[in-house]
Amino acid sequence: MAAFKRCKVCGVPVRVGKDHVWSSDGTIAQRRDRDHRMIFFDSEGIDALFQNIEQLIGMPIEKMIIESKARATAAYISHLMRGIRGPAARVVGLGRVIQRVIDQGRVMGYGDINMVSFSWKNLKIVNDVSNPYSLPLFCGDMRGSVEAIRKVEGTVAYEQQGPGRYVVTAWHEAHASELEGRLTPKRPPRKQGDIAFNFCPGCGVPVEISQFKWDTEAGTITHEPTGVRYAIFGPAGLQAIFDELERELGESIPEAIIEAQRMHVESRMGNQWKAIGGADLKGWLRGWLAMQGMGNLRELDLVDGVYRARMENPAAPLVLLGTAAALFEFMTESKGVLEWSVADDGDLSFTISPAG
Ligand SMILES: [Zn+2]
Repeated sequence: MAAFKRCKVCGVPVRVGKDHVWSSDGTIAQRRDRDHRMIFFDSEGIDALFQNIEQLIGMPIEKMIIESKARATAAYISHLMRGIRGPAARVVGLGRVIQRVIDQGRVMGYGDINMVSFSWKNLKIVNDVSNPYSLPLFCGDMRGSVEAIRKVEGTVAYEQQGPGRYVVTAWHEAHASELEGRLTPKRPPRKQGDIAFNFCPGCGVPVEISQFKWDTEAGTITHEPTGVRYAIFGPAGLQAIFDELERELGESIPEAIIEAQRMHVESRMGNQWKAIGGADLKGWLRGWLAMQGMGNLRELDLVDGVYRARMENPAAPLVLLGTAAALFEFMTESKGVLEWSVADDGDLSFTISPAG
């Protein structure tokens, strides 16, 4: 299938380079829509992160995750369709968009997705998915796809068929209410950077991306050195979920999200991280984060046992902070005290000092 053609030089599916641009500012953007950021993200960690959040705040959040992700996906798909004019063209164009999103899902690491049926009545889409990158995010994507079409509220339901296998159905209820437009918060403009990549001459992705192995049958991306499964998706969807949680549940949410991510990363730390950084921790981290589109680590200093860092264009800052706290504890073998802030210009600054 053309969608899964590989680069002859580095072996990465050519779609990855066709659809994404890595910038010297530490971000990955969609080639057709430079404002739409993407990240390579540890996908096994997503649902673990959500479960840890539930455990810390003591209530289920699946519904909220699906709704927030649906809104982000709907906004994205509406944007893809903005050039399509007239109702008929719009319907045909939309069918294409949905099919493309589903095909693309395999390259993005979303799992083994197969469309079971599609009916224009109620815009009902049924997918059979094995090993989704995250069940609630996948449900949100499907609900968002049907919401983008008629701008009315969608519904999604899943049924487990076996280990890691689900049938997910998204549709419009008759008389579904109009979607209320919630404004997505404006992000400050990205700051320019000076990160240098070696790009593959065959397909244009950074050569480091070939550390990831694609299995387009299974719809998975695996980071070979660590064995961790990854997916490529927009950090805006993740941020929308965090914002919604904070709006609904209050100010203590950001700290809970940081702690949930710290717990997850801590559970993952092992020998594969021993080689981290070597002599040049900052250089290594900077390249590693930029390759994943997480932002530009501008400053990282260690003074009297205290790490001080500043990142430009951070993606999902709370996740970055939780990861940083876990790394600190792994490297120093002591608990860390984290202090952080996000400035008006979007910069994330933090210090981590040993506790006690
Ligand atoms: Zn290549």
